[in-house]
Amino acid sequence: MFSSSLLPEHNNFPASSLPLNSTDWSAIRRDFPLLAEKAHNKPLAYLDNAATTQKPNRVIDSVAHFYRFDNANVHRGVYQLSEHATQAYEDARDKIQYFLHAPLREEIIFVRGATEAINLVAQSYGRPRFKPGEQILISAMEHHSNIVPWQILCKQTGAQLKVVPINDRGEIILERYQALLNEKTKLVALSHLSNALGTVNPVKQMISMAHAWEIPVLLDGAQAAPHLGIDVQALDCDFYTFSSHKIYGPTGVGVLYGKQNLLDAMEPYQGGGDMITRVSFESSDYNCLPYKFEAGTQNIAGVVGLGAALDYLNVIGIDNISQREQQLLDYASEVLRQIEGLHIIGTAKDKASIISFVLDSAHPHDISTILDQQGVAIRSGHHCAMPVMTRFNVAATARASFSFYNNKSDIEQLVQGLRLVNSVFTGKSS
Ligand code: PMP
Repeated sequence: MFSSSLLPEHNNFPASSLPLNSTDWSAIRRDFPLLAEKAHNKPLAYLDNAATTQKPNRVIDSVAHFYRFDNANVHRGVYQLSEHATQAYEDARDKIQYFLHAPLREEIIFVRGATEAINLVAQSYGRPRFKPGEQILISAMEHHSNIVPWQILCKQTGAQLKVVPINDRGEIILERYQALLNEKTKLVALSHLSNALGTVNPVKQMISMAHAWEIPVLLDGAQAAPHLGIDVQALDCDFYTFSSHKIYGPTGVGVLYGKQNLLDAMEPYQGGGDMITRVSFESSDYNCLPYKFEAGTQNIAGVVGLGAALDYLNVIGIDNISQREQQLLDYASEVLRQIEGLHIIGTAKDKASIISFVLDSAHPHDISTILDQQGVAIRSGHHCAMPVMTRFNVAATARASFSFYNNKSDIEQLVQGLRLVNSVFTGKSS
């Protein structure tokens, strides 16, 4: 954990009225205005946090503050307002460096989201390097964002996509992973925490196994960053990606962390303003890191909002967040198991924050439609992880995903809603 006193300040208003390391979860919940809204005239139980999270006042206010007082394009103007905007934007980069424990701020690149970050690595790292017959290794639990960019790359280069299987609990089979690593493997790309199963992968161990073959590793941290403390140096990952909107920040912003030596050696895959130092019709010189990969005007207000979100999490403390969410997960798993005909898909020993399930009596879409009428927002479908559905032989699952701002009442509302689903579809009251 970093201390908030280490963090660069901007905008001069506090991250929260909460004291540092607050675990006053009721007060914390009140910081999220949308959670006080009703759905179908019922209290809203928002349990779709893996899709996107709600935003605290601190984030909403910081974006509004930016547009009211600091809005200008960054890195371009010599006037005061542009300097303020640049300061706010670059302060956010420092906050992300602290959050990820990255050695250098130049290693933090702003993108649109985890998806764009992975595409960037595929096109800037993979495309000029990978040759026919070389291999990219992913796991069977990946989100489409960590599958399709590699398939595109394979079409472009002739490289092959290899997939490490998972067991019935939804855990990567490490012996199979070991057996798939070889001199042809040029990159491993893994989700840190599965959005469809909730599995937390043993990524530190898997990275050191890949490094024994000198294979770089990209971690898709879209789900992990909001729930687990991330230390890219301790993990020794080569690339790490996450999305702002899943970590209480605005949509349209994400982060790619990459080791400096790798990023330095990569060509940009998007050209435009800000990523150059000199342009002529014959050739152009690229800017230094991180700007080389930030072509065009970025989502400046979104970046500032992401910085505010990390300030807010820092006030609560990522350890408190992980502990709280683990308690919610344990409680929800226990009460859901008592519902007749409910089967949890994804029962890994190391899990966080997500429960995927099916119900004998009803299709996941019917479950979520009935729950919606009861004020409960969950997700149903393939969760952008169709191969996971195939692996578990289901067309879809229902998924409840938790944040620290959820509480036992949300879970009880979910349970009551599921009992109603059972009684609607079986005709029996339970
Ligand atoms: N990876 C995982 C594991 C995800 O859960 C998601 C979002 N559902 C993504 C990648 C893609 O994130 P985004 O759509 O914000 O780019």
